[in-house]
Amino acid sequence: MAKQINCECGYTVEGANEDELVANAEQHIQRDHPEMAGKMSRDELLAMATEA
Ligand SMILES: [Zn+2]
Repeated sequence: MAKQINCECGYTVEGANEDELVANAEQHIQRDHPEMAGKMSRDELLAMATEA
């Protein structure tokens, strides 16, 4: 089931499943929010996710 996270910066992270969504979100955080890198757990990222 596809999921997405609407980041506070306006970027929409998408993934075909939870694993892909978390991987894409971690990539986005490292690239655009390096100060947040490593602070968001998988569970926290998934808590922000909505059905795409
Ligand atoms: Zn962002």
